[in-house]
Amino acid sequence: MKEALLCVDLQNDFYEDGALPVEGASEINFQVNKLLHSGDFAAVTASQDWHPPGHKSFASSHGEKPFTPYEGDSEGLGQVLWPDHCVQNSEGAEFHPEISTEYFDLIIRKGQLPEVDSYSAFRDNDGRELGLAGYFKDLVIGKILVVGLALDVCVFYTVQDALKYGFEVELIRSATKGVEAQPGDIAAALEKMEDKGAVIRE
Ligand SMILES: [Zn+2]
Repeated sequence: MKEALLCVDLQNDFYEDGALPVEGASEINFQVNKLLHSGDFAAVTASQDWHPPGHKSFASSHGEKPFTPYEGDSEGLGQVLWPDHCVQNSEGAEFHPEISTEYFDLIIRKGQLPEVDSYSAFRDNDGRELGLAGYFKDLVIGKILVVGLALDVCVFYTVQDALKYGFEVELIRSATKGVEAQPGDIAAALEKMEDKGAVIRE
């Protein structure tokens, strides 16, 4: 079976010094690069959170503090408002300098619509396809190995979508870290991904 690697949001703003830091994020770089260098994959893909300034998922766009719960989930936003992050063409939106991005065959930019967020690398939160599923199907990919940030947000939604589209999914635990905005978020995300059929590998 042909396998693909999918690197979720390995961008400066999600690392320790970024606008929306994930604790210990840089610890995954070694594992991610090992996979990138392995030559094991028929396709190596990456998602890149890529928001216009004033994006509706930003707390600042609503005059609110970051991590304020957001009630308008049906509009295609998430459950909380985020600090400004991954603004198009900013340094924060760039891939982390340690990541061997020269191995990426395809980069999917997400969250570009001002009013809609995109947690999954496959679809906007309102369901609009970003093209990744079709790309994998065209290449007859059967299994996707998922790595990246953050485990309990964009990785979580990406894995669930990959399963929905019929791919086998392995999440490489040592190559992902979570935000844990609420205590227990990481454990709950891992459990739900496994329940839906993902294999969690060290
Ligand atoms: Zn975002």
